[in-house]
Amino acid sequence: MYSIDLSGKVAAIFGVANHRSLAWGVAQALDQAGARLLFTYQGERLKDKVAKLAGTCSNSLLVPCDVTDEASVQSVFDTLQAECGRLDVLIHSVAYAPREELEGAFLNTSRDGYRIAMEISAYSLIHLAAQAAPMMKACGGGSIITMTYMASEKVVPKYNVMGSAKAALEHGVRQLACEMGPDNIRINAISAGPVNTLAARGVSGLNEMMGHHRDKAPLKRNITLEDVGRTSLYLASDLSSGVTGEVIHVDAGFNIMAM
Ligand code: NAD
Repeated sequence: MYSIDLSGKVAAIFGVANHRSLAWGVAQALDQAGARLLFTYQGERLKDKVAKLAGTCSNSLLVPCDVTDEASVQSVFDTLQAECGRLDVLIHSVAYAPREELEGAFLNTSRDGYRIAMEISAYSLIHLAAQAAPMMKACGGGSIITMTYMASEKVVPKYNVMGSAKAALEHGVRQLACEMGPDNIRINAISAGPVNTLAARGVSGLNEMMGHHRDKAPLKRNITLEDVGRTSLYLASDLSSGVTGEVIHVDAGFNIMAM
């Protein structure tokens, strides 16, 4: 049980696909801290899985959302306003690139692949933040958390266009932090180490990447959903009241190593 108390707070969580999702690790931590949770799911294909997980939380709602569809995003915020009347925390844990873009050479990135990866993985944060801003402002502030990966800073072979998207995402975090700060809305990114999720399986050589990470990281292990959940709880709560625009590595220390 966590000692941080988020009772009375409402969190919207974008990006749970199944029990392995990073967003599910975050949701569990926020649920244990007493927050009311609104889960979105991307399409009917994922509805039952997400509904089952949401049902294990003490106070949750479920709404469909495809971040490329403005009407579907709008309906999430309409539901939040109607059902909860407030929004304190937004978790953006959404990314996608066409599989072929993560297999071949970065040199061969297609125009469409680049556009799709950027739109879903980076632009969506800006769009969701803009929708969340008035509701958070009305609550006296809020916390937005997104998930990034170190391929934004250093080259990870085969991560290709997703590295470009993560660099854009991290820039978005800083730019939005500057604009939203006066309304006491904080926005930060967690740069997670590799975890075996649906999205991560789209990157070739995931097992090799995880083994390398385990061997080289100072903590000599891969990270867990609980690691991501605990840092999210810190960023969602007043414990991080002076922190915004940051990229916090939750990677067992891997990023500090040169050899
Ligand atoms: P995941 O597959 O469980 O989650 C990805 C989510 O993105 C899914 O819920 C999917 O439905 C959602 N999504 C994709 N396109 C969407 C769209 N158009 N509209 C709405 N939702 C959409 O995988 P994950 O690893 O938990 O990924 C979550 C985030 O964490 C991503 O941003 C990912 O890049 C990031 N991340 C993952 C790792 C890792 O190793 N797993 C490491 C660092 C960062």
